[in-house]
Amino acid sequence: MSELEPREELGFLLGGVRSLLEQLVESGAIEVPSDPEGVARAHANARANANAHANANANANANANANANAQVQVPRAVAPQPPPVERPRVRPPVLETPDTLESVEARRVRLAQIEQVSASCTRCALHEGRTNPVFARGSASAELMFVGEGPGADEDAQGLPFVGKAGQLLDRMIVAMGYQPDDVYIANVVKCRPPNNRKPEPNEAATCIGYLQEQIALVRPKAIVALGATACEGLLGTSGITRLRGTWRLYRGEIPVMPTFHPAYLLRKPEDKRLVWADLQQVMQRLGKSAPPNPGKR
Ligand code: SF4
Repeated sequence: MSELEPREELGFLLGGVRSLLEQLVESGAIEVPSDPEGVARAHANARANANAHANANANANANANANANAQVQVPRAVAPQPPPVERPRVRPPVLETPDTLESVEARRVRLAQIEQVSASCTRCALHEGRTNPVFARGSASAELMFVGEGPGADEDAQGLPFVGKAGQLLDRMIVAMGYQPDDVYIANVVKCRPPNNRKPEPNEAATCIGYLQEQIALVRPKAIVALGATACEGLLGTSGITRLRGTWRLYRGEIPVMPTFHPAYLLRKPEDKRLVWADLQQVMQRLGKSAPPNPGKR
């Protein structure tokens, strides 16, 4: 074969390629689009397929990463903990309560000290009108305590609680219960006489109640009789003597309290003595007392 010129050689090759393509088209091995738009659609489809594959791969990778994160527990950095601090034990304050004042004599001495303090007390306005402060009378180790409202004229003059007509009636009731007046302990919510025998103001009662609370803590009675509304309010923090009377209550959750009418009320309304006597009989029953055979006229 003679050597061909490059141009001739290129034409020869292109002619071979063309004839090969024609043969392939004729045999159906390849499909040639008959219009330019078909070619464009074919290219677009090819790009869409390629994108779909790419997205699928991206999602697969994301899922794989999520699974990997879920499965791999990365340990958190733990801050170093200080060693446990040894806290000092908090002890309750040491009070001169009956727990530390066991003997009756010690309690009597302590009561006398408190009485001295109350004698010079000026913590509320009631001190301005008093002749004598009125602290208490009776036994420092009594099992039964009576609590009234405050001193009247007779009490203010003598410096002792329940010494007027109402006090005499109370003494008769105490004897009827099987006690002597000196066997029980008798005190009031306020230690100074309110002017004109009026009821103590709430702030006066609240200011003075600490003395009574100390008296109760030192005497440690097994039961308390609350005489009238002011005593109920001071001991129980609740009012309504007509509703309360005859039903046991608790002072500070531990000492039984029997609310009943004040003797001064019974002087005005003697027909209610039977109600008070019924209340006192409940007290006697609780303390294991039986009435003396002839308690006398109440
Ligand atoms: S009534 Fe009580 S608080 Fe008031 S001055 Fe007399 S002792 Fe003090």
